[in-house]
Amino acid sequence: MSSTPIQFIKGVGPAKAGLLANLGIATVEDLLYLFPYRYEDRSQFTPIAMVQAGVHQTVCGTIISARRNFYSKNRAVEVMVGDKSGRISCVWFNQPYLVNIFKEDQEIVLYGKVDIFSKRLQMVVPDFELISKEDRSLNMGRIVPIYPLTKGISQRYLRKLIDTCLGLHAAELQDIIPQDVRRRHDLNPITQSIRQIHFPPDATHQQKAIDRIAFEEFFLFQICVILRRLSIVNKTGITHKIAPSLIEDFKATLPFTLTGAQTKAIDDIAADMAKTRPMLRMIQGDVGSGKTVAAFFGCIAAWTNRKQAAVMAPTEILAQQHFFNFQKLFAQGAFKRIRTALLISSTPAKEKKVIYQQLKEGEIDLIIGTHALLEETIAFKELSFVVIDEQHKFGVDQRALLTAKGSNPDILIMTATPIPRTLCLTLYGDLDVSVINEMPPGRGLIKTYQFPTAKAQAVYQKVRELVLKGSQAYIIYPLVDESEKLELKAAKDQFLHLQKFEFTGLRLGLVHGQMTRQETDAIMEQFKRQELDILVATTILEVGIDIPNANVMVIEHAERFGLSQLHQLRGRIGRGAQNAMCVLLADPVTEESKLRLEAIVATTDGFKIAEQDLNIRGPGHYFGRHQHGLNELKMSNPITQLEILEKAREDAIILTKRDSQLSAPEHRLIKNTIRKRYPQYLDLILAG
Ligand code: ADP
Ligand code: MG
Repeated sequence: MSSTPIQFIKGVGPAKAGLLANLGIATVEDLLYLFPYRYEDRSQFTPIAMVQAGVHQTVCGTIISARRNFYSKNRAVEVMVGDKSGRISCVWFNQPYLVNIFKEDQEIVLYGKVDIFSKRLQMVVPDFELISKEDRSLNMGRIVPIYPLTKGISQRYLRKLIDTCLGLHAAELQDIIPQDVRRRHDLNPITQSIRQIHFPPDATHQQKAIDRIAFEEFFLFQICVILRRLSIVNKTGITHKIAPSLIEDFKATLPFTLTGAQTKAIDDIAADMAKTRPMLRMIQGDVGSGKTVAAFFGCIAAWTNRKQAAVMAPTEILAQQHFFNFQKLFAQGAFKRIRTALLISSTPAKEKKVIYQQLKEGEIDLIIGTHALLEETIAFKELSFVVIDEQHKFGVDQRALLTAKGSNPDILIMTATPIPRTLCLTLYGDLDVSVINEMPPGRGLIKTYQFPTAKAQAVYQKVRELVLKGSQAYIIYPLVDESEKLELKAAKDQFLHLQKFEFTGLRLGLVHGQMTRQETDAIMEQFKRQELDILVATTILEVGIDIPNANVMVIEHAERFGLSQLHQLRGRIGRGAQNAMCVLLADPVTEESKLRLEAIVATTDGFKIAEQDLNIRGPGHYFGRHQHGLNELKMSNPITQLEILEKAREDAIILTKRDSQLSAPEHRLIKNTIRKRYPQYLDLILAG
C-alpha cells in the first residue's frame, strides 16, 4: 500500500525514517510526492573545455587532485577535475573535511556557475555528486532528478529509494483528477505521471509529467477556493436598499472629489450590497490611494438601512486613524448622526462594557477596532457590513469569526499589498475585486535614491537641510527577529549618536517595538503636531500613520528589507502636495538584494513592484507562509503556468457546481486530499 510507513521499506529502518521525516515524509505516498526541484540532463555533458563563464552548467569528470589550501583564511578545499577535453578547478570554503571525501580517480558530477579566476575556469562551491559504479543507471546517462535534501540523506539514496517505491507501489496510486477531466485535457494517469516526474525518459515526457502534476495542484487548490466562496455567497444575505441619491450625498459631503477608480469601487460596493447574496469583495490599491474612503461608503449605506457596520484593522494605530478619519470626514453634513465607536484592546474595561452593551442594543452604528472586535462576548443587533483591512495580517478563520457576528453580512476586504492578476486568481479566485489604480490628485512625487552606507554623512546633511526648510523626516532601521535585542541597541545607539552629532539642535524622537503603545502614541502624536523634526523608527511604521508634512525618509540597511516592505515603508511619505525624497542606504551583497533595490528605485507603482517581488521570490514566499496554502503548490507556478491554472479552474468550477459538498463517491479522494493538504479550507467549506 502506498500508505505504508516509509520505515518498513527495505534500506530505510527507524534511523533513516527519522531523517526522512525532516523532509515531511512519513509514508511511501509522501515519498512519491516529493518532487525534484530541478533536473540535470546527464545524457550528455558539456565537455569541460566548452563550458562558458557566467552561467550555471553541469560537467562530469574524474578527480585529478584534491587539496586543502592551508594559507586561505576561509579554509578552502580545491579540487581539480578533468575529462577528455580539459580540466577545471573547483573550490569549497569552510568545509575542510571535504578533502577526505574527494578521492583521486573518483567520478564526479558538478553543477554550478563557472567563473574565470586568474585566467582559469573555476567553479565556486558547486553542487556535487560522487558517482559509484553500481548505481549508474539511476544517476547517469539520463535526465536525473535533484531533490531537496536534509542532513544524512543524499541524492543517490533518495533516487534509489524512490525507484524502489515506484516499483513496489506506484501502480496503487489513485487518481485525484476524475477521468472525464483527464480525458478532456489529455492528462496521463497518475501512475505514469509520478513515475515520469521522477525519472523522465526524455524532455517531452518530463514536461508532460510536470504539467499534469501542476494541473492536479491547481485543480485541488481551486476547488478549495471556489468552495470557500460558495460557503459565503450561496447563503441568503442582507439586501441593502441603496438610493442613487445616497452616492450623490456621499460625494457632496466629502471635502475632495473622488478619483475615477474610487467612484468605480463605490459603484461596485453599492451594487453588491443591494443584492441578496452576501458580498465578498476585495479592494486592492496602493497605500494612500483612498481605499478607506470607499469602504466608508459601505458603512454609511449600512447605516441608512438601519443596520450596523464594523471595520477591523490589524494595528491600534491604524484603527485609530480610520476612526479619526471617519470623524473628520463625516462629522458635518448628511451623515453626522452616525454613531461611531473605537474599540481596541487598550480601551478601558469600563468603556468596553458600555460599547458591548450599545452594540447589542443597536446604539452604535459603526464600530472601528482591532482584533478586540473578535471577543466572544461581542454581539451586534444587526451587523450587515464588515470591512477587513490588510487582510493578509489576519487568518482566514479570524475573518470568519467577525462575520459570524452577523447573519451573512456583506464583506469587504482591503489590501495595500497589490496582487498581480494571476496570483490573485489563484489565491482569491473566491473574491470579486475592485482595483484602485489611481492616486488622488495633488500629491507630490517621490524620488528614490540608493547610496552605499559610506555616503551616510552626506545624506544626513541633505536631510538636515530639508528639515531646516520645514520638512519632517523618518529614519528607519531594520529589526530582524533573531537578534532583536542587538538590533534594538543599534537603533538606540544610532538615535543618540544622530541627536548628538548629525542633527544637533533638531528635535528627534525614537519609536520601536519594545515600547508600550502609550509611549509610541505619545511620540507619534508629537511628530504629527510637528513638535518633532525627525522620527527614528524601527519597522513598526510599516502600517502606520498619515502625516503629509513628513516627506523625507532614510532607510538604513535597506538591503535587509523585503521588496513589499520597502514599498509599504516608502508609502508613508509623499502623502502631501510637496515632492518627497526617499534614500536607501544599502550595501547589497546578494543578487536578490541588488534586484530588490533596483526595483524600488525604478518605480513607485505598487503593482509593478509586486510583480517584481514575485519574480524574485517566487509565489511560495510572497505572502506570509502560514495561511494561503501556496506552499502546497510544488510543481505549479501561477506566473509561468497561467494556461494550466485557467484550465484547472474551469474544471474545478464545473465539478463544484455539480457537487458542492464533495459528497459523491468519486470525489471522496478529492475531499480526503484536501483534508490532508489544506485542512484550513476544509473546515470552512464543510462547516458552512
Ligand atoms: P488608503 O486606505 O488607500 O491607504 P486612505 O483612504 O486612508 O488611503 O486615503 C489617504 C488619504 O487621502 C486620506 O487622508 C484621505 O482622506 C485622502 N483622500 C482619499 N481620497 C481622496 C481624494 N479622492 N482626493 C483627495 N484626498 C483623498
Ligand atoms: Mg447584500
